[in-house]
Amino acid sequence: MNSEAHQKVQAEHLARNAFLYVRQSTLRQVRENLESSQRQYGLRDRALALGWPIQQIVVIDCDQGQSGSSAVEREGFQRLVTEVSMNRAGIVMGLEVSRLARNSSDWHRLLEICGLTRTLLLDEDGLYDPSHFNDRLLLGLKGTMSEVELHLIRARLRGGLLQKARRGDLGGRLPTGLVYGPAARVELDQDRQVQESFHHLFKTFRHTGSALAVVKAFRQEGLRFPHRVWGGPRDGELVWADLSYYRVTWVLACPRYAGAYGFGRTRSVKLPNGLVKRTKKKVPPEEWYAFIPNAHAGYINWEEYQENQKKLQQNSTQYRSQRQCTPPREGPALLQGLAICGRCGRRMQVQYHERRGHLYPDYVCGATASRYGQKQCQRISGRNLDRAVGELLLETVNPLNLEVAVAIEREVEVRLEQADRLRYQVVERAQQETELARRRYLRVDPDNRLVADQLEADWNAKLRELRSAQEQYEQQKQNARVSLNAAQREKILALAADFSAVWNNPNLPNRERKRMAHLLLEDVTLQKDQTVVAQVRFKGGALRTLELPLPLPFCVLSRTRPEVVEAIDALLESHDYREIVDILNARGLRSGDGRSFNVSIVGSICVKSGLKTRRQRLREKGLLTLKEIAKRIGVKTLRVIQWRHEGRVIGYRSNYRNEYLYVEPTSEQITLLKRATIR
Ligand SMILES: [Zn+2]
Repeated sequence: MNSEAHQKVQAEHLARNAFLYVRQSTLRQVRENLESSQRQYGLRDRALALGWPIQQIVVIDCDQGQSGSSAVEREGFQRLVTEVSMNRAGIVMGLEVSRLARNSSDWHRLLEICGLTRTLLLDEDGLYDPSHFNDRLLLGLKGTMSEVELHLIRARLRGGLLQKARRGDLGGRLPTGLVYGPAARVELDQDRQVQESFHHLFKTFRHTGSALAVVKAFRQEGLRFPHRVWGGPRDGELVWADLSYYRVTWVLACPRYAGAYGFGRTRSVKLPNGLVKRTKKKVPPEEWYAFIPNAHAGYINWEEYQENQKKLQQNSTQYRSQRQCTPPREGPALLQGLAICGRCGRRMQVQYHERRGHLYPDYVCGATASRYGQKQCQRISGRNLDRAVGELLLETVNPLNLEVAVAIEREVEVRLEQADRLRYQVVERAQQETELARRRYLRVDPDNRLVADQLEADWNAKLRELRSAQEQYEQQKQNARVSLNAAQREKILALAADFSAVWNNPNLPNRERKRMAHLLLEDVTLQKDQTVVAQVRFKGGALRTLELPLPLPFCVLSRTRPEVVEAIDALLESHDYREIVDILNARGLRSGDGRSFNVSIVGSICVKSGLKTRRQRLREKGLLTLKEIAKRIGVKTLRVIQWRHEGRVIGYRSNYRNEYLYVEPTSEQITLLKRATIR
């Protein structure tokens, strides 16, 4: 240590602490590079030589094993900066001070603060005072060089890696189904079963064009799919498992199965705090760092690979657009997000189907269906279920509110008990005084009559006081109870009335009704067997079981009631459809799905119920078609139509293509009609 160094160290520096910052970038360095550690700790002796007492030398070594490229996660470095900025550090020591911070901005900040607080810096090369221009320049350069060095190391490593990747020589693990052959050439797995499984997967996708269909096909055929375990004690072992949707999409997206070598399929991004985060953002093949088609043997060719990607992309957009058709939370399904499958315990999803302008929910447990291609676990119609749960809520809301009220009352009761204790103390004091009076009376000499009489009167008075205190206490207690309960009962009833009014309000959006259900219910477990059993669990833990008959199919529900069919049957004898519609509507009857009648409804009821049509009935009565009557009279059909308009022949509408059927005229009538024609 030369004299110049000693000149830099002043009394004001020695009055503050000396900080020794010890760091190794990686845990491996911490373990193996012991010499460097020793050198770092050796700097302590330099501080001693410069005049710092041993108790003033603080070692910061909590950043061992942290990389230096950013200060964010280095607690020790942060502490160092804090100590310096609070003017508590006289000197900062490091093996090479520029390595205190490996990031230029961190380093310059430290330098700036050291200059402001007149803190010295010391490394193996020498002692620096950042408030001196020369030292500052030197330190700045050192910092920049240090960052450059780090950059160069990284560039050299990365460059080598990329170079190898571009040649396709960058080894690494191969996906299941591909193995390294002689001379490190990539080949298809020699295991015939493995090879055929992959061929089968690609072939099935070629035929079906859907990853889910591939999963289903494997499931139906009872086939399993191979994959190799990565890492752990079973590293490299071949495992046969059910094919999952995820695996199919992964295999289809992996370019190596198409014999292509790709490197840099994803990109990493730098976060604002300086850390590098690996994201899974995929980039198209044109932007990969290295891309070599036909680099090795594959299960499909590159064209097919691209075709497959396109198909997958289309499938996913189709799926998305379908999902967007139903708005996510406006739908009427009351148990959305609450329904749980009673068979497998998974959450059930809602699917809607539309019938005549109404949306009806179905609760579907389809998790296994989409993942492993099995049959749907169960599907339960929500039409009756939602209604039943709604009714249950309305019916249960009274006790629920009572529960809330009880909770409030309990709180009030605590307060009441406190008041009660206070009031009871009056009684206790009266008891004590009575007891005292009693003892005083018993202790007195019975011969001393005067005193004894006085004490007896005293005791009696105390007894009376006690009794009145007790009575008063009891009465106050009763009063408090009664007034509280009456007030609360009123409140509860008001709440319950409010609830049913709000619930039944037709203008209330479905979302709000669902929100109310979510507030009250924990979940609803559904199971379908001979009946639908719904176990409704309330937030408070109460459990209610609903049992509903299996919902009837829609076609049965919409079937017209028998009396309507009978009425139509009777009316058809003497009325056409238009007249029947008017008559039915006038009688206030409704169709099976609650609509008023029109011609097409009546027509379809006839067909569905197997009633004889109007035309059949008229024909059975011997009425003639237009052609028949024209032939019979011996005129053109147009003439007959004209006669019908004029009322000379009688026709009835058959409602069969607006056709009219005609009453057969007698021979006299025919003669009359013909005579009219000749005129
Ligand atoms: Zn299920």
